Amino acid sequence: MGTGYGIRCQSCFYSNEFLLGVGGDYTPFIDYEFNILHPKTREQVKRVIGGSPIHDINYEYELLSCLKCQHLYSRPIMEIKYDRDEKFTTNKNCSKCKGKGKIISNIEIDINQLKCPGCKRKKLEINSHIMWD
Ligand SMILES: [Zn+2]
Ligand SMILES: [Zn+2]
Repeated sequence: MGTGYGIRCQSCFYSNEFLLGVGGDYTPFIDYEFNILHPKTREQVKRVIGGSPIHDINYEYELLSCLKCQHLYSRPIMEIKYDRDEKFTTNKNCSKCKGKGKIISNIEIDINQLKCPGCKRKKLEINSHIMWD
């Protein structure tokens, strides 16, 4: 079960919907978990972890804002604990410019500080709430 937000800009035509949180049943240690990841990320995960035992997988759909180009995107960020004491977190970088993505942990509060991906002004607002599962 997750929540989502419709976000729009008050000064340009930008609007988008983002689904956040965990969607559906969470069953660890099953291969399909990795299917939510981008194919490239999936390859990277397999390369890093190899045949090491996996102890725990956590993932959540996060909202991210690119520090470089202000692109807003949601993506499953997965943290995998494996081997003895190793931890691997999947890529947060912007899909447009490869810039550093910052996780927006509380959109209700942070919305006023976010720059619009379209006009780069701090004019974004939440205009709808979505429930999904
Ligand atoms: Zn970017
Ligand atoms: Zn705008």
